[in-house]
Amino acid sequence: MEIILAKSAGFCFGVKRAVNMAYRAAENSEHICSLGPLIHSPQLVQRLEGKGIRVQNSVEQIVDETVIIRSHGITRNEEQALERKGLPVVDATCPFVKKAQQYAALLGKEGYSVVIVGEQEHPEVQGIISYVAGSETSVVANPEEARTVTPHKKLGLVAQTTQSFDNFSEIVQELLENSKELRIFNTICDATAVRQEEARQIAGRVALMVVIGGHNSANTTRLARICSEIQPRTHHIETADEICADWLDGVEAVGVTAGASTPEWIIRDVVDRLTAVAK
Ligand code: SF4
Repeated sequence: MEIILAKSAGFCFGVKRAVNMAYRAAENSEHICSLGPLIHSPQLVQRLEGKGIRVQNSVEQIVDETVIIRSHGITRNEEQALERKGLPVVDATCPFVKKAQQYAALLGKEGYSVVIVGEQEHPEVQGIISYVAGSETSVVANPEEARTVTPHKKLGLVAQTTQSFDNFSEIVQELLENSKELRIFNTICDATAVRQEEARQIAGRVALMVVIGGHNSANTTRLARICSEIQPRTHHIETADEICADWLDGVEAVGVTAGASTPEWIIRDVVDRLTAVAK
């Protein structure tokens, strides 16, 4: 049986950077925590706990610890609360997310009504929005929602980094009708698109697709959905233990991919298990 492993499977630049920063910080500090789980991989969060990195869910809970900020960033309020408490901070916000926050702040400062393309409840979007001071803000997820944006003579646009380019450009089309001036910062990072495109291609060539990543990871869940539209025999798993031998009955080629928050050792375990089961 052939196993086709996606080249793009696993950590993106920002997640790899955050995890490395966390490991380094754990070596230098005994009292250390992340504000929220560092990434959407329960297995990695557990390993980090083994290194002494606890998960704290709010700034209020933190007393005397070094605080690691996740790759998708925090809100301005949280940042200020950490400053007020005088806690040491390891800022692992992905530089691409930082850029989106800075552009949103700039647009607000220059009097634009700021539109963020993304998912309202996502912490990254909550973070971006919080950096806009003194201007109107709205979050739109799709072109239909863009039609409801209040017309404004100056509209400014940024995107949640994981948005699809097609959705973003359709929203731009809609907003052109709502404004005399539309200033756009394309803050989309292509890590998501690259993973999705490669997954689509592999899913079209195999009889079984395995997508690895936290069940709580939105980007892995989306990857699995994309694959299952092409290859209905797609399984979203977190670890190799979930693989059933009968999935492989009569299968000549299996595709494997993983979300941007899936550690390499888990991907390796899955490939090893598939190889063992196929024998
Ligand atoms: S998906 Fe892109 S923006 Fe988000 S953490 Fe990864 S590299 Fe950074």
